[in-house]
Amino acid sequence: MAVTLHQGDIPANLSFGSSVAIDTETMGLKPVRDRLCLVQLSAGDGNAHIVQLQADQYAAPNLRKLLADPAVTKIFHFGRFDIAAMWMYLNVLTAPVYCTKMASRLARTFTQHHSLKTLCNELLDVELDKQQQTTDWGAATLTPEQIQYAASDVLYLHKLRTALDVMLVREGRMDLAKACFSFLPSRALLDVAGWGEEDIFAH
Ligand code: MN
Repeated sequence: MAVTLHQGDIPANLSFGSSVAIDTETMGLKPVRDRLCLVQLSAGDGNAHIVQLQADQYAAPNLRKLLADPAVTKIFHFGRFDIAAMWMYLNVLTAPVYCTKMASRLARTFTQHHSLKTLCNELLDVELDKQQQTTDWGAATLTPEQIQYAASDVLYLHKLRTALDVMLVREGRMDLAKACFSFLPSRALLDVAGWGEEDIFAH
C-alpha cells in the first residue's frame, strides 16, 4: 500500500476512474464550527491519496472538480458528514454518491451495528485500528500514525460497496438504496441549513 500526501489539492493529472472512496478529517463534529483538515481518496487499488488543507487552502480546483464530476461516484461511510464539511469549506456539493453506512442500514437489518470498523470486520475480515480517531487533524505536520489512520478509512470502501451491493440486490432494496443515495447531498445541505436534528418527514 502506498500513501501519498498532497498539500492544498490533488495533482491535475491524478485520475481515480469511475468511483473514488472519500473520507474527511476535521477539527470536530460540527461543520459550521469545525474546519475541514484532510480529504482522503482511494481508487480502490490499495493506495491512498491524502490532501492536507490549511485554513487558507480551500480553493483546491482539482479536488472540487472531482467532487462535482457526474461521471465519478464518490463512495463514503456516513457521507452525510463529509458532504456537509466539504460543502462548508470547499463550496462544492459532492455528487453522485454512495454511502456504505446507509447501504448497511438498508441491507443488514438483523443488526444495529453499522460502523466502518464493524463492516470491515464482518464483511471483509479486516481489523481497523481506530486509535487515532480523536487527534489534532489541524496540525501543520501530521504524524506517520495519523497518516496511516487517515488512509485506512478509504482503503476498504470499494470492497464494502461490492459486498453490500450483493446484499441489497438479494433483499430487493437496490432501487431504494439508489434513491436514498441521490437524496444524500440534499440531506447534508439540510444539516448545515439548520435541519440537523429535525426530521422533515416527521408528522
Ligand atoms: Mn476518517
